[in-house]
Amino acid sequence: MSRIDVACPDLGDFKDIPIIDVLVKAGDSIEVDTPLVTLETDKATMDVPSPAAGTIVELLVGKGSRVSKGTLLVRLESAAAAQPAPEPASAKPQPPPAAAPAKPAPAPAPAPAPAPKPAAPAAAIEEPAATRTAQLLVLGAGPGGYTAAFRAADLGLKVTLVERWSTLGGVCLNVGCIPSKALLHAARVIEEVHEMSTRGIVFGKPQVDLVKLREWRSSVVRKLTGGLAALAKQRKVEVVRGEAKFLSPHVIEVTAAGKSETIRFEQCIIAAGSESVRLPFLPQDPRIIDSTGALELPDNPGEFLVIGGGIIGLEMACVFDALGARVSVVELTPQLMPGCDPDLVRPLEKRIKSRYAEVLINTRSRAIAQRRTHRGRARRRHGRQERLHRHRQADAHQRAAHLCSRRYRRSAHARS
Ligand SMILES: Cc1cc2nc3c(=O)[nH]c(=O)nc-3n(C[C@H](O)[C@H](O)[C@H](O)COP(=O)(O)OP(=O)(O)OC[C@H]3O[C@@H](n4cnc5c(N)ncnc54)[C@H](O)[C@@H]3O)c2cc1C
Repeated sequence: MSRIDVACPDLGDFKDIPIIDVLVKAGDSIEVDTPLVTLETDKATMDVPSPAAGTIVELLVGKGSRVSKGTLLVRLESAAAAQPAPEPASAKPQPPPAAAPAKPAPAPAPAPAPAPKPAAPAAAIEEPAATRTAQLLVLGAGPGGYTAAFRAADLGLKVTLVERWSTLGGVCLNVGCIPSKALLHAARVIEEVHEMSTRGIVFGKPQVDLVKLREWRSSVVRKLTGGLAALAKQRKVEVVRGEAKFLSPHVIEVTAAGKSETIRFEQCIIAAGSESVRLPFLPQDPRIIDSTGALELPDNPGEFLVIGGGIIGLEMACVFDALGARVSVVELTPQLMPGCDPDLVRPLEKRIKSRYAEVLINTRSRAIAQRRTHRGRARRRHGRQERLHRHRQADAHQRAAHLCSRRYRRSAHARS
């Protein structure tokens, strides 16, 4: 029997992280990788797994304790010496961006004898030939992928980052957080200027040059995605452009412009992100756009209906409202921005209700049809309001996860 003090693993740049849950108690018998505590940073929650099997002798932290790399968490009595470090991929869930892959604490007890190696797999799988090799292949260069790739390269791995788009940064930098925040900034300036008119400073009605506004938004995106490419180069992360498809557990095929190459990897991180879900009843109509289409700032939006009053939908609503569109929002659940603190949502709802043409909560969009009437037609059925609009539609209602290029769709309908 040996005593093992289990310490907090290397968490990259994070320090003083609160423990939000303690998952074991003194006397518990645990296995290797049993989660001991849950930590929460502002980016993610993660469990710290036990590096060895044994019995918990003492808990050295509690819920609410703050920990950094090396803080002792539990004392274990173990029949065997501490197991070798679990691979980063076994950390549950994924570590936060820029954080180090979870490493177990160094065990003070010296190993009496080398642990027996696990038996080799019975039959080796025949792998397709490959044109390149990588210790770690990261699929997808969004915030999940590029941070993992950079961190792994910093830790000394030979990393290949595969991305189908021409620029790095994924949804966030190209068609998400960054362009939307640029446009929200423009919207804020327009609103502030307007607000000042009641305080004695009048600038006049804004003249919006959509071409220049789009160019400015794109320049903000270019600067950041270009910066990422430089960071990848600095770290010698090999960037391969093309659509990736697994051929086997250790070989991936990447196709771009009709040409394919194969890459063999030891380990792979799939960070393929998500994309907008299209509601099944939406007709093909160029006026129906998703958030990416909305960020393109279509000409003369006129009346603008946002299906989905979540954060992304409301961001788009805010931008188009500032640019002079007449905005309506339809949200399925009883609250705008579902999941957010209702005390924060209420003032926002009050504000936008006074500005927008309509804000409908608890309302399901069932159908969309063109009508000659200008304002659309509303009717109540089964206690719910239905509205047929003639607006340009931004379908911002949900995104679906990509996993190895397969799409898992959740429908808004499942929720009501
Ligand atoms: C309009 C909008 C505004 C947003 N604003 C914010 C915000 O303010 N704050 C915030 O925290 N989040 C925001 N988000 C969400 C944020 O963009 C995502 O959470 C983030 O991009 C997810 O990162 P990811 O790396 O998991 O995936 P993604 O960014 O989706 O990256 C996945 C990458 O994988 C690539 N890929 C997928 N499949 C393959 C394949 N088979 N082969 C090769 N490459 C592939 C994709 O091309 C993509 O580049 C916003 C999203 C949108 C749409």
